[in-house]
Amino acid sequence: MNRYSAFLLAMLTLLWTAAPASAQSKRLNVLATTGMVADVARAVAGERAEVSALMGEGVDPHLYKPTRSDIARLTRADVVLVNGLHLEGKMDEAFQRVASSGKPVVRVADRVPREQRITPPQFEGNDDPHVWMAPALWIHALDSVRDALSAADPTGAETYARNADAYRKELAELDAYARRVLASIPGNARVLVTAHDAFNYLGRAYSIEVRGIQGVSTESEAGLKSIEELVALLVERKIPAVFPETSVSDRNVQALVEGAAARGHTVALGGALFSDAMGAPGTYEGTYIGMIDHNVTLISRALGGDAPAGGFRGKLTLAQR
Ligand code: ZN
Repeated sequence: MNRYSAFLLAMLTLLWTAAPASAQSKRLNVLATTGMVADVARAVAGERAEVSALMGEGVDPHLYKPTRSDIARLTRADVVLVNGLHLEGKMDEAFQRVASSGKPVVRVADRVPREQRITPPQFEGNDDPHVWMAPALWIHALDSVRDALSAADPTGAETYARNADAYRKELAELDAYARRVLASIPGNARVLVTAHDAFNYLGRAYSIEVRGIQGVSTESEAGLKSIEELVALLVERKIPAVFPETSVSDRNVQALVEGAAARGHTVALGGALFSDAMGAPGTYEGTYIGMIDHNVTLISRALGGDAPAGGFRGKLTLAQR
């Protein structure tokens, strides 16, 4: 072997051993804030990205403050996916800092057309950020995620488009299921009372009146007056159930149950809904589709509607309790 072929062999060996490592490092590092956004990113990315979420089960995004290690994760990520519309109210500064370094920080809910957003008067002219509550609106977030991943990794654009199309079909099926089971709730019981105003988009999409004890952000305190008003509503309309949320304290919801009982009307605690956070990782309820399925199935059954205990895909376990 001459020096030249020895050199060639060495180069080949180097290439050979380096190849798997470089293929590995090509996977996009995608960091999302909420589990809902991360779940969409996983569906779109498939094997092409490593997707993680900053906020886990039961975490309230309105109040979440980034830790030092969160900042480090934001800095390391190739793409940062944020819900936006001020859902992550305490993280704006962190997002600005990360964006100023040139990294894409994409607010997926911004893709929802303005005329389709709800702007509650008590939210000081800001749009309601809880757009994931209506699967038909969440499709806009899906498009935003697809475009963000394609921009960061153009080679994968075709894969991302294909995966997004498949997920869009699932969301449409979920929307049809939600429409069907929520339509079966009798007229007088079509009122959803929850711990905070996270369900406006669900209410609008499926014609259910929604009343939250706290406002659109959990930052505001519930007033005694709003508790009294809601108790009066429950008694007057004979509403059968109220719903706590997994990411908000159930103290206020409990106060409603007690208030109604004191006035001779029994209100059931309808089971905890997933409002601003999904269920445990690795479970069906720990996915976006499972979370919405759980919510609409639980709401329908507790308010006298007709929904299968196993839900949309027969996979629900929590709703059967
Ligand atoms: Zn919320």
